[in-house]
Amino acid sequence: MPRLAVLGHPVAHSRSPAMHAAAFQALGIGDEWSYEAIDVRPDEFESRLRALVSEGYGGANVTVPHKLAALALADSASPAARAIGAANMLTFSDRGVAADNTDAPGLLGALPGGVAGKRAVVLGAGGAARACVWALVHTGTEVGVWNRTRPRAATLAAEFGAEVIDTEDQSLGADTYDLLVNATTVGLDAAAGTRSESRDPRSDLKPLPLGADSVSARHVVVDLVYGSSETPLSAFARQRGADVVDGLEVLVHQGAASFRLWTGLDPPIDVMRDAARKT
Ligand code: NAP
Repeated sequence: MPRLAVLGHPVAHSRSPAMHAAAFQALGIGDEWSYEAIDVRPDEFESRLRALVSEGYGGANVTVPHKLAALALADSASPAARAIGAANMLTFSDRGVAADNTDAPGLLGALPGGVAGKRAVVLGAGGAARACVWALVHTGTEVGVWNRTRPRAATLAAEFGAEVIDTEDQSLGADTYDLLVNATTVGLDAAAGTRSESRDPRSDLKPLPLGADSVSARHVVVDLVYGSSETPLSAFARQRGADVVDGLEVLVHQGAASFRLWTGLDPPIDVMRDAARKT
């Protein structure tokens, strides 16, 4: 079990190796456990996965673009991975490859306070949005889904018992939700650090149904997007006084959930957070 990896393409930017290495050190198991980033092209994913299993690796996190393939190749899958339709965590044992999805508990773990009985809006209908909607619906949250391509939002909402949100070019009303989760890729370029600091963050948010009054101090805003700079949504929501949870915090909780499943130990969240933010 002690050899782990994250498989992605590209993957050099991944903060997971630093995060897990710091956790192993903090718990005194740094000599036994290891975690590395391995760049795997889509066409070689299956063969590399089989090779890792035969080399004695214990498991792997899986990131873009392999989450669907990981689920398809696994011998068994958790109910969450199966429902979401994607796996971001694999465990290898003599029973084969087991798939799980820790993006869902990662979102819930990163939220300040409970969400049961609250109203959430998830922006997006891709893999990350599926994990978020599934997680929120399962905690008793009332969930609305908005997506640029409406039929995808409708399909996702119908599948998980959420509602599709039509804004018809208007912005979300501030009193229509408590929690906003951005699971689109909007803001990714700006988060890569190419946006000038003085630029109004809302100019990068035009593709989303967010007018100036959509966000206020009564909202929790989660932006799954992260990079070397603050994302436009995080900057906008912070300016509006909202409680902001950034994508790195979600990543840390996803990593912590994976760590717990592999090691059976309580993950040292603060240590993992520090390592992820310093990378
Ligand atoms: P994905 O499956 O490719 O889905 C992308 C989503 O973004 C789709 O809903 C797409 O809408 C929407 N979108 C793309 N360009 C848009 C635009 N210009 N305007 C409005 N909507 C647009 O990607 P994913 O895997 O779900 O990931 C989504 C984001 O979450 C990525 O930035 C990823 O890095 C991040 N993420 C973060 C974590 C974390 O731990 N922090 C975990 C997972 C993912 P259409 O359907 O209309 O194309």
